[in-house]
Amino acid sequence: MKHETTTPSAESQAKGFSPGFAALGLEAALLTTLDTLGYEEPTPIQREAIPPLLAGRDLLGQAATGTGKTAAFTLPLLQRIAHSARRCPSVLILVPTRELAIQVAESVTRYGKELRVSVLPVYGGQAIGPQLYALKRGVDVVVATPGRALDHIKRKTLQLKTVQTVVLDEADEMLDMGFAEDLDAILEQTPKERQTALFSATMPPRIASIAKRHLKEPVEIKIAKEPLKAGAAPRVHQTAYIVARQHKEMALARILDMEAPKSALVFCRTRIEVDEITAMLTGRGHKAEAIHGGMNQPQRDRVMNSFRSGQTELLVATDVAARGLDIPSVSHVVNYDLPTSPEGYVHRIGRTGRAGREGAAITVIDPREQRLLWNIEQLTKAKIVVTPVPTVADLRTKRLARIKSAIEDVLAAGELDLFRAVATALAEEGNPTEVAAAALKLVFRLQGGERKEQDIPAMPSRQPERPSMGRRPMGDPRSQPSRMMPREGQGRPFSPPGRGGRTAGMAKVYIGAGREAGIRPGDLVGAIANEAGLNSNVIGAVEVMDRFSLVEVPEVLAREIIEALSRTRIKGQKVGVRLFLDQPRGGRA
Ligand code: AMP
Repeated sequence: MKHETTTPSAESQAKGFSPGFAALGLEAALLTTLDTLGYEEPTPIQREAIPPLLAGRDLLGQAATGTGKTAAFTLPLLQRIAHSARRCPSVLILVPTRELAIQVAESVTRYGKELRVSVLPVYGGQAIGPQLYALKRGVDVVVATPGRALDHIKRKTLQLKTVQTVVLDEADEMLDMGFAEDLDAILEQTPKERQTALFSATMPPRIASIAKRHLKEPVEIKIAKEPLKAGAAPRVHQTAYIVARQHKEMALARILDMEAPKSALVFCRTRIEVDEITAMLTGRGHKAEAIHGGMNQPQRDRVMNSFRSGQTELLVATDVAARGLDIPSVSHVVNYDLPTSPEGYVHRIGRTGRAGREGAAITVIDPREQRLLWNIEQLTKAKIVVTPVPTVADLRTKRLARIKSAIEDVLAAGELDLFRAVATALAEEGNPTEVAAAALKLVFRLQGGERKEQDIPAMPSRQPERPSMGRRPMGDPRSQPSRMMPREGQGRPFSPPGRGGRTAGMAKVYIGAGREAGIRPGDLVGAIANEAGLNSNVIGAVEVMDRFSLVEVPEVLAREIIEALSRTRIKGQKVGVRLFLDQPRGGRA
């Protein structure tokens, strides 16, 4: 669907703001903020969603995390509320987990800095006192998980009469977590004439039904629906590494230390990231240079000449900066952030593997972005192999092998006269093998090999859900366990585990409360995601029995999850939590 877009104002163009964002009708204060954040152009979802949301339309958007959807709804909504009455909730954003509530509230604060809007994240597990105080003082935007929002509504501490816009973010996940009725109850408390936007990574019929009930003639947006042309993706070796957000930078450093590419393009999303990553890589001894839209032509020319001559090995760039450049074929393209569309990915990796040469495309993502990666894989029909981040030991072995091969080259080339006398003298003093080992140690140290480093925790990678196996309670609620199946599970076979079996790499956690205590699968997923600070999509099958529940979690995280759950209350009660050791089929827990 096409929308009219406002022409960028003369004022915003004159100030040199991103014409892409200005063309969407965003006001100068927001353009300033985007400029400060180093955003160079809108992502596809932002281009499509911002104009209709600014115009007050309802919206149904299919977009995964990592596409820039938070800014897509936040920017227009902030602009709409910034000049109206303040300090009573004007925007309510509902999200599935505490982690996301915090993250979205941070984004809203960041985007609303110039407009001075106040934001409050509201989620379960957090003391209610400070939330009550903040709500009483008044806020403009509330970002809440459905359970806690409903709590406040019942206590009459959250009034929704003044709400102009409601956003349902990651709606499919909220439904998977059993929040459907809560959503209905919350929306009922908001004015009928409100604006509603619903975002979901998938659009199963139950999302369509909730959209039908609560959205008025929504503009529908679906990003990346068309498969790309066959053969659009170059035939290069494609690898992805999945690590927690806080470890991404370290993982990138480790991967580049391991690969030691001679000519690589490293893509980041923002100018600020480009500068930070360049500084980090330079600090580790890589020959890296930045290129982005904030640089003038002579600066860019200098960087490009240095890259073309091979003096610079890693060119760290934003898409916008790279677009206009005549870049020679590189050995590696590295995505420090996934591009926001499959087309963007294909465009980036097309810089390597040209003219029959070998090429490698490497992507580092956080677990929330796996769906975007899977979309790219589907649309390009090319396999992206999810690989563990190299360990400290892997890197050590690789460095030593590299030194060995360099020494063999030097031996073959000869011309060692200058060094032979010293080598002979050292060998006469001691054992020649020890002398060689000491020389190796010196080279190893000079190459940063003795830097103190830690292994990066593995994050389980997961396969997208099969349409027939949603994360929904199955069977007769009285005689069958309420069971939710894993939504994703790459690297492990997708099979319903049942109580007798276990999925490879997964452990089962026993929780001493079940249906009789009012437990629903969503309570357990929410508690684990929130208390252990994990993305809920790492959680596998959930079975709620009458008196107890079983939850499948990645083996590597089991201990951490058990400790976190033992400290917390589930549905207001302290419950026993332990590792569940499999019984023979039919055995009772
Ligand atoms: P989201 O899909 O909302 O989780 O956003 C994913 C990431 O993209 C966040 O880290 C944002 O800061 C970043 N981002 C969003 N929009 C843009 C943009 N137009 N340019 C660069 N980065 C962006």
